[in-house]
Amino acid sequence: MIIQPKTRGFICTTAHPEGCARQVQQQIDYVKAHKKLSGPVNVLVVGASTGYGLASRITAAFGAGANTIGVFFDKPAEGARTASAGWYNSAALEKAAAEQGLKSFSIVGDAFSDSIKTKTIDLIKAEFGTVDLVVYSVASPRRTHPVTGETFSSVIKPVGNAYTNKTMNFHSGEVSTVTIEPATEDEVRQTIAVMGGEDWGMWIDQLQAAGALAEGATTVAYSYIGPEVTHPIYKDGTIGQAKNDLEKTAIALNEKLSATNGRAFVSVNKALVTQSSSAIPVVPLYISALYRVMKDKELHENCIQQMYRLFAEHLYNSDAGSSHLIRIDDWEMREDVQAEVMKRWSEIETANVPVLADLPGYQDDFFNLFGFRTEGVDYEADTDPAVDIPNLV
Ligand code: NAD
Repeated sequence: MIIQPKTRGFICTTAHPEGCARQVQQQIDYVKAHKKLSGPVNVLVVGASTGYGLASRITAAFGAGANTIGVFFDKPAEGARTASAGWYNSAALEKAAAEQGLKSFSIVGDAFSDSIKTKTIDLIKAEFGTVDLVVYSVASPRRTHPVTGETFSSVIKPVGNAYTNKTMNFHSGEVSTVTIEPATEDEVRQTIAVMGGEDWGMWIDQLQAAGALAEGATTVAYSYIGPEVTHPIYKDGTIGQAKNDLEKTAIALNEKLSATNGRAFVSVNKALVTQSSSAIPVVPLYISALYRVMKDKELHENCIQQMYRLFAEHLYNSDAGSSHLIRIDDWEMREDVQAEVMKRWSEIETANVPVLADLPGYQDDFFNLFGFRTEGVDYEADTDPAVDIPNLV
């Protein structure tokens, strides 16, 4: 069939297998063109099929030659419906890993469930013995608690007061004003339950209890802080409360892992276009302005550049500090970058978006997420949407 993008707001309901495969190959080429990393050896990535998790898995496998297991929640193609992008990305990654002679396995299912944790731990024990790095990169709108059975939904809302600011429809470039009412106490509780640290802690506890963590194992989860202008909707909002909980979990996990010389980190990453970030009001306009400024200053990075830097300069650099909080948002937060973005923010409106922001860059990144607008792909060609993931367990 001919596969074209079909968007509904910030969602694209189709994905292109060849485009996704090429995007994955570009990330692989990026890490292979850089210095080989000194670790890790055996890696588990939870939330491994798109965005920061995919880039982490690629960095580990092709930057360090690590064996990897990726856990993710994606759907295969069915009839005329394409698979989700993460499915195609993982199929391409598995193929490339096999060609490289790496041990590599994919598990599709709900990472929040006990059954997927058990399945993953059994696989680690059978194939790797132990893992020495666990990356936790799940971003989800919902979670069902494995013990109580309660299903929580996360919301992106301010806490305390309503928040009004500029926002943008990134398809049309139209800038408007949006007001978001504050979350209720229960919405805060549910967002923490989905995006906070409880599930990360459960993974590490169960891996440790099963003897599936190597001596000196490292674990890392991802967070975002961002500039003051987005604080009410991010850092001080419901999602920020969840990220505070993630940080508390890192401190607790550090304690638990210290007995075996292990370490737990939260890495604060740069704002980038992913399926998760495009759903947050205000943020796409901020990212478009940020992209323009960072590209002009030759400081722009995508997920793969961020993850390579995380591994090379922090996780596998013996000179790195020991703080549980890693800042690879340092270039985004540089004073000159933020001063320029904020100057543009105060002036930005629909008419000057093409000058003050990088809307085409945002749009390209958005469509790239689903394998579209990728150089070298013939989007008019008849394409089979049914793709198998090799080594799917
Ligand atoms: P993403 O949407 O690209 O990736 C989410 C991953 O989680 C996918 O692999 C998906 O399959 C997986 N997933 C979702 N629900 C799952 C479930 N129930 N079971 C198993 N897997 C599941 O998101 P992302 O933007 O890469 O976010 C990853 C982390 O990075 C999040 O913690 C996010 O807050 C953080 N972060 C993102 C940004 C940004 O700008 N995008 C910046 C800093 C930090």
